[in-house]
Amino acid sequence: MDEHSHNHADGQAAPSDPALRVKALESLLVDKGIVDPAAIDAFIEAYEHRIGPRNGARVVARAWVDPDFKRWLMDDATAAIASLGYTGRQGEHMVAVENAAGVHNMVVCTLCSCYPWTVLGLPPVWYKSAPYRSRAVIDPRGVLAEFGVELPDATEIRVWDSTSEMRYLVIPERPAGSEEMSEEDLADLVSRDAMIGTALATLPAAKEPAP
Ligand code: FE
Repeated sequence: MDEHSHNHADGQAAPSDPALRVKALESLLVDKGIVDPAAIDAFIEAYEHRIGPRNGARVVARAWVDPDFKRWLMDDATAAIASLGYTGRQGEHMVAVENAAGVHNMVVCTLCSCYPWTVLGLPPVWYKSAPYRSRAVIDPRGVLAEFGVELPDATEIRVWDSTSEMRYLVIPERPAGSEEMSEEDLADLVSRDAMIGTALATLPAAKEPAP
């Protein structure tokens, strides 16, 4: 077959990488004055840290205060999460894993970056990085220490490898001293990283009960 049967005058081959297409689109929108790159960064920042993980935090807070919901969540996380209105792509096939005394769960995707978007928003850069993906499995305790999480030696660390068929949400332990807090306030204690398993849910320092 003649390799040159197609028309070179039509331009270059399509970019192979979707990221390149996104970059090109962003440049065009910025050039035309349609969007401000700082606004795009702010939007991504918001979705990664604040808006996205708030859904998951509400799921966790509900599980902390409502034993029936918690049982449903452990039994069929996809349905329980959907009942709160959090549905969508990369939110199917959810599995909730619960931290408890002596058991800590941590989530990774060793192959790529599978992540429960509907409850956690956009994955952080480190989650997609090669070092996290390999070391989370080989040396979870070392990785946790780098995140500032020191667990007792006796604590079992369970590492869950996500796939497109299975996405995990860690239910952190409810912090001691939070017994009187409302569900809404409890949700504020649940960070994105706590639901990936690279942090614990903690009381804000100011709210810590007096010794
Ligand atoms: Fe993946």
